[in-house]
Amino acid sequence: MLALADADSDSLAYVSADCREIVQTRLGLDWASFGEIAHQFKAPATRAELVLAGAIVASTPGLGSETEWLAADAPPSLAAFLRGDLAGERRGDDVAHAWFDLLGEMIVSTRYDPWITRDSGAWMAYGDGTLVVGDVGDADWEEGGSATDALTALAHASFLMHEASHGVVPGHVPCEDDPDVTCDATVDGAYGVQAWWLTSWLTAYEWDVSEETRILGYTLRYYACERIEDHDGFEPCGG
Ligand SMILES: [Zn+2]
Repeated sequence: MLALADADSDSLAYVSADCREIVQTRLGLDWASFGEIAHQFKAPATRAELVLAGAIVASTPGLGSETEWLAADAPPSLAAFLRGDLAGERRGDDVAHAWFDLLGEMIVSTRYDPWITRDSGAWMAYGDGTLVVGDVGDADWEEGGSATDALTALAHASFLMHEASHGVVPGHVPCEDDPDVTCDATVDGAYGVQAWWLTSWLTAYEWDVSEETRILGYTLRYYACERIEDHDGFEPCGG
């Protein structure tokens, strides 16, 4: 798989049809629930395409080696997943393989549900191997960035990693300052994994992408870190 490296390019066009086929099969993408018929695409534009593009971005090679990430103090449950995987010798040296396996192992089926709206405060939901996608493709970032296809593919990638990690990390808790909102008590949670994944993506690509995409990456990571009650010493959230 190749990188969806820049917001302004159609580099997804260079991802092979085989690769896209593998990704949609692993995620059990239910095209019909999205109101779409399974199809090939270049630059992602529809909701189902953005989910696939996000999964491809999430597992793009070049994000560093698994051993590097383990050495750098990953969230403990994620580290256990990576270690188990290393022991199984199932992949190469790039942590992107681990990200893809996390997605593929945790998400068995993927469908659209219009009841998940931005007003509900959630973009996606996950339970028992099923990923439910709402209106995340309609992202209209407060910072004024227009949500181009690649920007939302990056957002999808980070949300996909968050949701898939629910299969391996402790669940959310009510936030201390607003019990109606969900947080993680420590970095060992879905927000920690999301911040961790964004750091690996930013480390690899922040100087290869447009300023808009870079800012989106920082913004997504900032919001993930805001939802971790205690992230002292956690590098993705500023140490
Ligand atoms: Zn969550």
